[in-house]
Amino acid sequence: MNTWTPDSPVYLDYQATTPTDRRVVEAMLPFFNEKFGNPHSDSHAFGWQAEAGVEEARAKVADLIGAETREIVFTSGATESNNLALKGVADFHRQRRNHVVTCLTEHKCVLEAAHRLEGQGIDVTYLPVGGDGLIDLEQVSNALGDKTALVSIMAVNNEIGVIQPLAEIGALCRDRGVYFHTDAAQAVGKIPLDVNAMSIDLMSISGHKVYGPMGVGVLYVRRRPRVRLTAQIDGGGQERGMRSGTLAPPLCVGLGEACAIAGREMKDEAERLGLLRDRLLDGLRKHIADVTVNGDMERRIPGNLNLAFDRIDANALLKNAKDLAISTGSACMSASIEPSYVLHALGLDDSRAFASLRIGLGRYTTEEEVDYAVGRLVEEIKRLGKAAAIAGAA
Ligand SMILES: *Cc1c(COP(=O)(O)O)cnc(C)c1O
Repeated sequence: MNTWTPDSPVYLDYQATTPTDRRVVEAMLPFFNEKFGNPHSDSHAFGWQAEAGVEEARAKVADLIGAETREIVFTSGATESNNLALKGVADFHRQRRNHVVTCLTEHKCVLEAAHRLEGQGIDVTYLPVGGDGLIDLEQVSNALGDKTALVSIMAVNNEIGVIQPLAEIGALCRDRGVYFHTDAAQAVGKIPLDVNAMSIDLMSISGHKVYGPMGVGVLYVRRRPRVRLTAQIDGGGQERGMRSGTLAPPLCVGLGEACAIAGREMKDEAERLGLLRDRLLDGLRKHIADVTVNGDMERRIPGNLNLAFDRIDANALLKNAKDLAISTGSACMSASIEPSYVLHALGLDDSRAFASLRIGLGRYTTEEEVDYAVGRLVEEIKRLGKAAAIAGAA
C-alpha cells in the first residue's frame, strides 16, 4: 500500500486525516452503482439492499464501542456530531438545565458550538488542563451543579494526542445525573473504548480519522438511560428523528468496514506505532539537545508526537521542508499566524508554541519514512539554529 519514495513528501499528519484503507474502498464500491438504492425506499429490493448495507455498517460501528446498533446515528462527520450533541442536548433541556461543561483544549467545533450556546443564554464552563494536557477530575466534579445538562470532554486531543480519563469523568457524570459526551474522533480505532464501562452517553466519531472516507461520522446516543436531544436538521425523520436526510450508503458502509478493521488490528497497530514513535523521538534526541514533548507521554496515543524545539520557528522549518507533510498547531487567521490555543492552555508561551510541531504516524508509516524524516528535521533544525545564533550574535 505504501508507495513512498524520497520524491514525494513523507506523510506524517495522521491527526489531520488518514487515507481511506483500500479494503474500505473495496467495501464501498458496490454501493455506488450496483446496490445504489435509496436506503429509505422500503417498497422494493433496491432500497432493501442499500438499507441492509447501512444496517450492517451500523452494527460494525456499534461493535467497536460496545454500543447497541440502534444507538448509532449517522452524520456527515464529527463536526456535525459534536454540534448535534451540544446544541441538541442544550436545546432539549434548557428549561430545567441551562449549564454545559467543556474544556479549553477541545476541537474548534466543540468550542464554537459552545460559544453559540452562550449567545443563546446557556452558561458554559471551560475547564483548564494541566501542563500535561490532562483534565483534573476534581475540577470536573466542582463544575457540576443542579443546572448542568452536559459535560463534553474529548477522548483524545487532536494536537497533543493525550487521552483524558474517560471512565472517571463518566462515573462522576453518571453519579450526578449529567450526560457525558465525548468527542472521540481521534480515539476510535486507536484505543479501546466501551460506552458502558466508561459511562459515556454520547460519542462523536469521524470516518476520515479512522481510515474510512471523509464526509461521514456517527453520534452514539445512549438509549438506557435514554438521552433526549432536539434534532438540528428537520426533514423526513431518518435516524430515529435525530438526523433527517438521505443516508449515503457508500459512506456508511465505508465507516463500518473501517471500524471492523480497527477492531481487529488496533492492538498490533498500536504496538507497531509505539515503536516507530520511539524511533523518531530517539533519533531526534540523538542529534538535538533540546527536544521537549508537549503533553503527557504516558497517557497518549502512540501515533502522536507534539514536539517543541528550542528557539525554532516551526512554520519557517516546514516552509524549507516541503518533503515532510507535518503540521504546526498554529492557525492562519486572515493576515497573521496565531499560536495554537491548545499549547497555550498547557502553559506554553508564544515562542514555545511557535517552536512546536505535530507529528502524526499511522497505518502506512514505515521505518524508512521515519528515518528520512528524522534526518531532514535534524538538518533543518540545525540550519535554523545556526541562523538564529548568527542573528543573535550580530
Ligand atoms: C477531525 C476532528 C473533528 C472534526 O471531524 P470531521 O469529521 O472532519 O468533521 C472533530 N474533533 C476532533 C478531535 C477531530 O480530530
